[in-house]
Amino acid sequence: MKIESSNLGFPRIGAEREWKRVLEDFWAGKTEEKDFLPAMKRIRLEHIKKQADAGVNRVPVGDFTLYDHVLDTAVMFGLIPERFQHREGPVSLNTYFSMARGAEGKAACEMTKWFNTNYHYIVPEWGEAEPVLTENKPLTAWREAKEELGIEGKPVLLGPYTFAKLSKGFKPADLPGVLKKLVPLYAKVLRELEDAGVEWVQVDEPALVLTHPHGEMEAVEEVYQELARSVSGVRIMLQTYFGSIEHYQDVARLPVAGIGLDFQAGREGNLHSLRRFGFPENKVMGVGILDGRNIWRGDLPQELDFLEGELRSLGACSGWWIQPSCSLIHVPVSVGKEEELPPVLKRALSFAEEKLEETTLLTRALCERKEMVEEGLQAARDALHGLARSELRTRPEVREAVRQVTELDTWRDTPYPERRRIQQERFRLPLFPTTTIGSLPQTREVRGARLKWRRGDWSDARYREFVKKEIADWIHIQEELDLDVLVHGEFERTDMVEYFGEKLDGFAFTRYGWVQSYGSRCVKPPILFGDVEFREAMTVEEVVYAQSLTSRPVKGMLTGPVTILNWSFVRDDLPRQEVARQVALALKAEVKALEAAGIGMIQMDEPALREGLPLKSEEQKTYLDWAISSFRLAVSGTVAETQVHTHMCYSDFHDILEAIREMDADVISIETSRSHGELIEAFETHTYDKGIGLGVYDIHSPRVPPVEEMAESVRRALRVLEPSLFWINPDCGLKTRTRDEVVPALRNMVEAARHLREEQ
Ligand code: GLN
Ligand code: ZN
Repeated sequence: MKIESSNLGFPRIGAEREWKRVLEDFWAGKTEEKDFLPAMKRIRLEHIKKQADAGVNRVPVGDFTLYDHVLDTAVMFGLIPERFQHREGPVSLNTYFSMARGAEGKAACEMTKWFNTNYHYIVPEWGEAEPVLTENKPLTAWREAKEELGIEGKPVLLGPYTFAKLSKGFKPADLPGVLKKLVPLYAKVLRELEDAGVEWVQVDEPALVLTHPHGEMEAVEEVYQELARSVSGVRIMLQTYFGSIEHYQDVARLPVAGIGLDFQAGREGNLHSLRRFGFPENKVMGVGILDGRNIWRGDLPQELDFLEGELRSLGACSGWWIQPSCSLIHVPVSVGKEEELPPVLKRALSFAEEKLEETTLLTRALCERKEMVEEGLQAARDALHGLARSELRTRPEVREAVRQVTELDTWRDTPYPERRRIQQERFRLPLFPTTTIGSLPQTREVRGARLKWRRGDWSDARYREFVKKEIADWIHIQEELDLDVLVHGEFERTDMVEYFGEKLDGFAFTRYGWVQSYGSRCVKPPILFGDVEFREAMTVEEVVYAQSLTSRPVKGMLTGPVTILNWSFVRDDLPRQEVARQVALALKAEVKALEAAGIGMIQMDEPALREGLPLKSEEQKTYLDWAISSFRLAVSGTVAETQVHTHMCYSDFHDILEAIREMDADVISIETSRSHGELIEAFETHTYDKGIGLGVYDIHSPRVPPVEEMAESVRRALRVLEPSLFWINPDCGLKTRTRDEVVPALRNMVEAARHLREEQ
């Protein structure tokens, strides 16, 4: 059996986020296309070379993108919505970026989360037009790597089933029809790859791990049968990830040359299937053994035992590709330059580059005599043991506090109808109260000030004064706009998780540990590696100051426990729900501090609640139970007069509306404007009986939405939601816009609220 090393995808952003800079300079008009494209090419080739230098045998090509690989696939198949007025032929950069980001008079395409990750993809839209092949992108990428570097890579292609599943514009029942239209295009792509001499293609089908109707497997089978009939030379590695394959027996039968399995997220399920049904002898197994979703080093000696013992005993196959469990776009690029981390922690970390080293080390351990790599294997284990023993990890008083939490502790004393009455009395808000979700423009000046302070050029006092001045300006602006409920603007925060992580015990921060979130936007997830404990008030000073400037309510703004978990890299030595409770108890202390300081409304954002939802339906209830109960635990100490808000980002809400009600928040705001009314549909079947606001405009675009457009979106919502419970707010993330964009947009929003009140 031949054993090789492989990789599924490499971070695009670069070790110093150079990709982001190149992209944003182009958008800002600072560079032209003729300089932009070569700059991107340099980055692309550098990444390929890095992987080959690390000793990876099967280096992916074509996984690189100028924005998002799903958008690339849609563009490759000519799925350009009408409004972008694309004629035939290659799709211009201008059209490509307009689809991603919107343009004057053209709404951007919908964007949503990639499976259960914090990566966002652009949702392909099927319209009237038939799909056509506009460009063979994987082939271009393969040729480039071969010509420029002499590297024969493994082209990566988003598989037809997953691509269709992620698209919109047709009814689920029409999926087989959509697949039929796609097959000839995929066949053409593959044939051209074959003609060029490509040996293997990685066809990504993560949708095969979802809970999906067995009937769909027939359509999948037809697709792959048809592809096998049209192409015989190029070999397909059918790559799954993010869990175990749902209908394993059917997938194992598909006429492909290899099947890639996830042995991290899907270890248990996949092993279960392998034990029952074995693995097809004539196929190569993609062994996704290094965790592509987390940043801990693998316990290599243990993994090696697993591979040589259990996995080998499960049956012969024609080869193994030792690889990460999924694309490495979900982890940062390199641990190497992190100089400020505690050494005991740093040693236990593995980012993309280190994961490739682990991959090739494991491969060598399997192929050569183990003694050759003994030292490397032992180093991995020592690093993990070192961290496990460190006193940074365990705080007995935290463990004890978590043990003492009861179900009763997670509920507020007063039921909602009673709270509503008391709060109406207290705040006396008009019908359709207007507010924003929390952040306000983080201008160059704001970021510059923080940088000066972090570098030590500015004293704490000077920085604080600066933040206060910004708060005061914006309180003034919000009053002048006549918003009903104000926010302090979050100027002191770089990021909504990092900010809290830095002030709580148990977290560590990297300098360069960025991960792509959407487009050029990157996030730097904290590392939650030890028991979490509240140290001192984290938000009180800024919020109390803002409140002191106005008689209107100012919301205290916190990030919820589930989001802190889902947007951090979390220790894997404790159950997630236990870590969530630790975080909830720490936040509970902050909620108490805000309330004690006279803050009457507290918003605890849970934008990432939905993305933590397990992909398999049978695991979802357990997750929702502990996640929702952690949220409630964090806010349950409040008195009835305190209005608890929460906020969630767009996503498919159909399956979690019930759980959202269980959050028992007095008001929820949901980012929605980019889901074009789909959320509203969800409320047709589920009544919602607490305060609610659905974002009335998309903040991802610089465009200022007209009054009537926003009013109309509210009218649509009011067909399914109770007017007396309805709030008016934009989507989240105003921090990414400029003052000149935000002020006129909010002015129009307040105006829309006025119109709507008159209509009632
Ligand atoms: N309070 C944050 C904001 O307004 C929430 C961000 C988010 O939902 N991701 O930007
Ligand atoms: Zn949001």
